Amino acid sequence: MHTPSAARDPGRHFFAVNMHAFEVVDLEALAQREGTPLYVYSAPAIRGRVQGLQAALQGLDALVCFAVKANSSQAVLQLMDELGAGADIVSGGELWRSLRAGIPPERIVFSGVGKSAEEIVQALDAGVARFNVESRDELELLQRLAAARGTVAHAAVRINPDVDALTHAKISTGKSENKFGVSIDEARAWFARSDDCPHVRLDGLHMHIGSQILQLEPMRLALQRLGAFWRELASAGHAIASIDVGGGLGVRYREGEQAPDPVEYVALIREALAGFDGRIVLEPGRYLVAEAGILLARVLRTKQGEQRRFLVLDAAMNDLLRPSLYDAWHDIVRVGGNDGRETQAYDVVGPVCETGDTFALSRPMPRCEAGDLVAIVGAGAYGASMASTYNSRPLAAEVLVDGGRYAVVRRRQSFEDMVAGEQPAGDWRKA
Ligand SMILES: *Cc1c(COP(=O)(O)O)cnc(C)c1O
Repeated sequence: MHTPSAARDPGRHFFAVNMHAFEVVDLEALAQREGTPLYVYSAPAIRGRVQGLQAALQGLDALVCFAVKANSSQAVLQLMDELGAGADIVSGGELWRSLRAGIPPERIVFSGVGKSAEEIVQALDAGVARFNVESRDELELLQRLAAARGTVAHAAVRINPDVDALTHAKISTGKSENKFGVSIDEARAWFARSDDCPHVRLDGLHMHIGSQILQLEPMRLALQRLGAFWRELASAGHAIASIDVGGGLGVRYREGEQAPDPVEYVALIREALAGFDGRIVLEPGRYLVAEAGILLARVLRTKQGEQRRFLVLDAAMNDLLRPSLYDAWHDIVRVGGNDGRETQAYDVVGPVCETGDTFALSRPMPRCEAGDLVAIVGAGAYGASMASTYNSRPLAAEVLVDGGRYAVVRRRQSFEDMVAGEQPAGDWRKA
C-alpha cells in the first residue's frame, strides 16, 4: 500500500498516503450523485490486503477470518467470502450478517467475553467452526447447551498472554488486568479437566492482544508464550487442532506510521508455532479494511472564533466516532488538492452538539470554503460499523468502488428508516 502519489503532488503536505486507492475515482462526481456524508470503499484495496496476507501464509493450513466488527457491510463480507476468507464474530448479529453474506459456518469463529445463551445456541445451530471461550462460566454454559442439543462444540480457550501491545489503552486486550481471556494457569486447568465437559471438544488455543499494533515485538512475545503453551499441552498429551493468533495488526493513519509487513508478521507465527501442523486462524479486522475506506464530507461553513478557526463539516462523530472516542488521528484531505491556496489551521468539527464532535485540532489545510469536498482518510475500519443516529442524523450511505465502477452498498438512511421500530406509548402493559 505504498504510493508514489504523495511525492508527485505539489500539495503533498495535505495528501494522505492512503488516498491512492481512490485516485482513479472522481470523488466530486460521486459526492454529487450520492450525497454526503458518504463512505467510499475500494474493492481492489481490500483484495490487496487479504491476498497479500494469504500469500504470506502460503504453505500453512491457515484461515484468515475477518473481524466483522471492523466493517460489517454486507458487500464487504461478500468480498471476504469471494476471497476465501472467513469471519470472526462477536455477536449473534454478526453471525447472522456473516451467514447472510454467504460466509460458510466452517469459516466462522465466535469470540467475545459476553456470549449469551441465545447467541451460543444460534452459533451451535449454525455449526460455526469454533467458539473462542473466555471464562469458566462460558465453558460450562457451552457444555450444557451443546449437551441439550446432543452435539459437540469445538472450542478454543482464549488465553490472556499478559503482554502490553503498546497501543491505545482502550484497544489493548492482552494484559492481565483486561477483561479478556483467561490466564495460562487457568487454561492449563481447563485442559486437565476437559473430561468434565464431554460436549465441548477443547482442542484449540486463541489469543488477541489488542488493536492498531504497529510494533511487532509485543506480537512476538505473545506468540512465543502461546507457542510454548501449545508445546506444553502437546507433551502432556492434549491434541491441539487449531491455534488462533487473533487480529490487531495496525495500519497507517498518519505520516510516520506503517502497517507491519505481512511477511514479517507471518514469519513470527511460523517461528513461534514451528512444528504445529493443525489449523492456524488469523482474525485481522482493521488491517484488511481501514486504509481501503474514506469518508467524504462537505464543508458546511468556516467559522472564525475568538481563538480558533473552525471548519464545519456535514459529517460528525455519529458517522465516525474514532476521533472522539480514542483521540484518533485521521488525515483530512481537501479533494481537489491545494490548488494554490494558502495554508490555514482548522479545528475540523461536525454539527453534533458536543465539543467532542471534533475530527482534528489545529490541522493545517489548504484554505477551504463552504461547498468544498473533503475526504477523511483511513475510515474503512471502525467507521460505519460504529456509527449511530445521534442527534437524529440518519446513517450515511456507503459505496464500493471497483475498476471504474461503483455500487451503492448501503443506501442513505431515510428519516422513516431512522424511526423504524419506534412507536408511541399506546400499548401499556402491566410492569
Ligand atoms: C476486535 C477483534 C479482532 C480484530 O481486531 P483488529 O485490530 O481490527 O484486527 C480480532 N479478534 C478479536 C477477538 C477481536 O475482539
